[in-house]
Amino acid sequence: MLEPVRKPAPWHQPGWQRLTAQQDFAHAYLFTGQPGCGKRRFASAFAAFLMCDTPDAGVACDACRSCQLRLAGSHPDLLMLEPEEEGKAIRVDAVRQLVDFISQTSQQGGRKVVVLQPAEAMNVNAANALLKSLEEPSAETYLLLVSDQPSRLLPTIRSRCRVQPLNLPGADEAAAWLTEQLPDRSTDDCALLLQMAGGAPLRALSLAQVDALAQREKVVEGIKALLKGQAAPSKLAEQWNPVPIELLLDWFCAWTLDLLKLQQQASDAAVSADMDKVLGYMAKKLDVAKLLAWQDWLLEHRRLFASKANLNRVLFLEKALVQWKNLLERR
Ligand SMILES: [Zn+2]
Repeated sequence: MLEPVRKPAPWHQPGWQRLTAQQDFAHAYLFTGQPGCGKRRFASAFAAFLMCDTPDAGVACDACRSCQLRLAGSHPDLLMLEPEEEGKAIRVDAVRQLVDFISQTSQQGGRKVVVLQPAEAMNVNAANALLKSLEEPSAETYLLLVSDQPSRLLPTIRSRCRVQPLNLPGADEAAAWLTEQLPDRSTDDCALLLQMAGGAPLRALSLAQVDALAQREKVVEGIKALLKGQAAPSKLAEQWNPVPIELLLDWFCAWTLDLLKLQQQASDAAVSADMDKVLGYMAKKLDVAKLLAWQDWLLEHRRLFASKANLNRVLFLEKALVQWKNLLERR
């Protein structure tokens, strides 16, 4: 189902105003930008705007019949295509459903809108099926693609869409927005969430919703215990079972990068507060060749996990922790 939003994130307001002020809309748009920058929200709000019978100042009214059908999730002229499961492919059957939808006449007599996300999840057959629809657009039908990896799309698909790049807000704006969304969280918590999210506010918000801060605290404590010889890698690997592997990989990759920066005494080595002592201590002691070898190994495993390779996470974590601790051993 589409997010029930009428407006884009505040930092996308200027682009939004330019877009909605146009007289003629393209048949297909491609919204691109980093994960968590607000692309989905932008596409949802734009779909709402396109379908609204009486938009007000470039925003869906949320009151007309079309808006009410959309808000109830039962608008027959709005189609949402997503993978059946997160991380899975959008298959050709789903795109055939889209092709049928486009060829039918509008049931409510207004525009028809398709939102497809993430577009890079289409497999080759699905992408080719979609291409046909892009080549022969039908009147008053709009296709909204959302992608954080547009380079993975067929160039022929990209070239038939109007590309709307959506940026991240500046650090201050992101922090102010997140603090407003999470009134019960401290400024430090919000700063850490944003850092974990690579500066992407909506990603930071979803991390807060899955209680990533508590998990992070547990992991940081575990690492301190590991380095002091108070916890065994195998025990921590088991203990961390509830923590999503993507988060653990993100954190270790970020810490590794921080270690490299600290070693080179880079001026932008802004290490997060919960790990500054640990990383500062490690950076003084470790050997750069070992650190680079560890980074290679870690990035390779991150790729494997991202490609859904069938890895045993407990074994992987145990190996990772043994190596992390070994970074401090003299050769
Ligand atoms: Zn409306």
